[in-house]
Amino acid sequence: MKTVEFKTIYLKKRFPLKISRGTFSGSENLFVYVSDSKSFGLGEMCPGATEGAESAEVGQKHLEDFLKDVGGLSSSIWDIYFKAVDFGVAPCAIAALDMALWDLRAKEANMSLFRLFGLGLPSVSTSVTIGIMSPEEVHERVRYLNEKKMLENLKIKLGSPDGIDHDKEMFSELFEFLQRNSSKLKVKLRVDANGGWSVEDAHKMLIWLHERNVEYVEQPLSWGEEENLRFLFKDRPLPLFVDESCRNSKDIPNLSNYVDGINLKLMKCGGLTEAMRMVGVSRAHNLKTMIGCMGESSVSISAGASIGALFDYIDLDSHLNIDPNPTSGAPLVNGIVTPQNIPGHGASLQDA
Ligand SMILES: [Mg+2]
Repeated sequence: MKTVEFKTIYLKKRFPLKISRGTFSGSENLFVYVSDSKSFGLGEMCPGATEGAESAEVGQKHLEDFLKDVGGLSSSIWDIYFKAVDFGVAPCAIAALDMALWDLRAKEANMSLFRLFGLGLPSVSTSVTIGIMSPEEVHERVRYLNEKKMLENLKIKLGSPDGIDHDKEMFSELFEFLQRNSSKLKVKLRVDANGGWSVEDAHKMLIWLHERNVEYVEQPLSWGEEENLRFLFKDRPLPLFVDESCRNSKDIPNLSNYVDGINLKLMKCGGLTEAMRMVGVSRAHNLKTMIGCMGESSVSISAGASIGALFDYIDLDSHLNIDPNPTSGAPLVNGIVTPQNIPGHGASLQDA
């Protein structure tokens, strides 16, 4: 007989993150414990209105109602995932339950979760996000990231509400600073517009960013404008990824006509079970894969890192920007967010 308990903790960001939709200084996340007589599994939900639960309280209510209805957690993890989807549980809340169940299963097997999945350790270094900021702030942030050895791949948030001139100004400041210090700083640049551009602006920016060695552009158009991606895909100078436009595996076949890859997130898709399905569907459609994150601590990031070996690109950096961080796990090892080789996903909550 498995029991489920909940805990809510506010996680403050060291640096508030500004993207095209607004500024985020922290989040109240829900931690889920699934226990049996011998051990427990730990999961986490970072709330989000677009992920179905705008607060920890709403996510907990979704899970409590589901658990009452389903009458226990004795069936397979896959079965529980599909039942929770059918019941209408928010994807971010399912993700917390799903990763707690996988953590518990791996602990029962006395294996690290990545080994339970038949995987090795991830070998791809993570992107670190730079939000929309003034040109002056850019220098300071790059110096900080360099000191912390976090400057391997930068994901720059563009799509500023102030328009593409502001985007260009911020990007140029960063680009020129890196050029001036190119002997010391070897950085790969990626751009995420978070849906902040029109088709016309996106077209201009893709050409402009291609000239500045950007590797790929993520979510150029807003969620809901997927049909317009066709106008960018044709003759694109850079690979296009979608994030907000791709919620789960059902979205992938249609998107594969207009994009080169998808960025999946555990909070968006409903957890590890669906994430693995998305990787399979993406590969079947010749798409590149990326795993990203919301405002998650080391718990959810460790779960994501456990399947990190499946991805072409990794963007698991939110735990590095939480201060104080009450969780531990998934340390940065030579730029790679690395799950610990201990039973389960390897993360813990300090007072648990
Ligand atoms: Mg994104």
